Amino acid sequence: MITKEKINEIVKGYDSKKIKIATLCSHCALQLFHGARAEGIKTIGICTPERKKVYDSFSQAAPDEYLLVDDPKEAFAGGVDEELLKKNAILVPHGSLVEYSGNALMEIKVPIVGNRNSLLWERDRQKMFEWMKEAKLQLPKIIKPEEIDRPCIVKFPGAKGGRGYMAVNSYEEFERKVKDREGVMVQEYLAGIRIYPHYFYSPISKEGYRASEGSVELMGVDRRYESNVDEIYRPLSAGMSIQPSFTVVGNEPIVLRESLLGEILEIGKNVVEAAERMFGGIPGPFCIETVCDENLQFYAFEISSRIVAGTNLYPRGSPYSVYAYKEEMSMGRRIAREIKLAAKEKKLHKIVY
Ligand code: AMP
Repeated sequence: MITKEKINEIVKGYDSKKIKIATLCSHCALQLFHGARAEGIKTIGICTPERKKVYDSFSQAAPDEYLLVDDPKEAFAGGVDEELLKKNAILVPHGSLVEYSGNALMEIKVPIVGNRNSLLWERDRQKMFEWMKEAKLQLPKIIKPEEIDRPCIVKFPGAKGGRGYMAVNSYEEFERKVKDREGVMVQEYLAGIRIYPHYFYSPISKEGYRASEGSVELMGVDRRYESNVDEIYRPLSAGMSIQPSFTVVGNEPIVLRESLLGEILEIGKNVVEAAERMFGGIPGPFCIETVCDENLQFYAFEISSRIVAGTNLYPRGSPYSVYAYKEEMSMGRRIAREIKLAAKEKKLHKIVY
């Protein structure tokens, strides 16, 4: 495992005027490259040869240079990080990068925006719940399968984007439907509207909502579109008997009642401060997956301590970032700006690990 001290040493050795932003060409890479370009930072795309033409087809968001790899899953084990180090690169992790790098994530020799410890906490559902509890968030009950006494959702380990989750109402139904029980988590099914706020925590800025030594900014909000649950009324209306599934297909924007913003900002602040107490903080982008019930109470069921794909809705800024920035501020651009600022003030060690 590469230590935080080693990463601090590496960024100290970087030429602050020549820093480049690197990421894997997937997930929200277009937004990241586009945002970096707006801030005048050069970019590196880690990409397969077949994908390169896809990125090249977007003239305003293609990376300045590519590191071609045959298999993104092998990229980091295969030494891409050595190349990146020579190029003064800082890596921005997104969902695909975190998934593909797997356990190699802790070994990557390049500075990563954020705190890679937090990615370990979000990977383990039990730990994530501890974190959310420490942040005093309202949570769905976690229920032992034999004690299922209400509608529940069954989550499998490592499931990405809700794939394979199922709804069950009783232990009998759980036994019938769930064959492999290793590492499954049964949660109370939350009824309400899903709200996924995108936050940016900066330990070096005082411009947003004060949190810890810096501030948390609300950059946007989305709602996911999941198949088939989000259009389940269609097959139901056609008389089909159908079970809900939760596979993420896309995202749609949502704007909240303004009176809810105070609560949303406070939730972000509490998550930042809990992370600081538990494992050294979460500089950079993160998202809390919540459901808001009919009493306007928020329940959180997941944290992503990295940029989420829902931010792709707002490459020119969101209905929230527009009130905080004169420029069109996407999450990708916000990350680039933080890197620029931190480099200038010699505070890169505060925002990477
Ligand atoms: P996750 O993998 O935790 O991001 O969940 C994927 C999707 O499953 C969410 O976007 C929700 O639609 C649904 N979901 C997850 N947890 C719950 C819950 N406790 N109650 C209701 N729906 C949930």
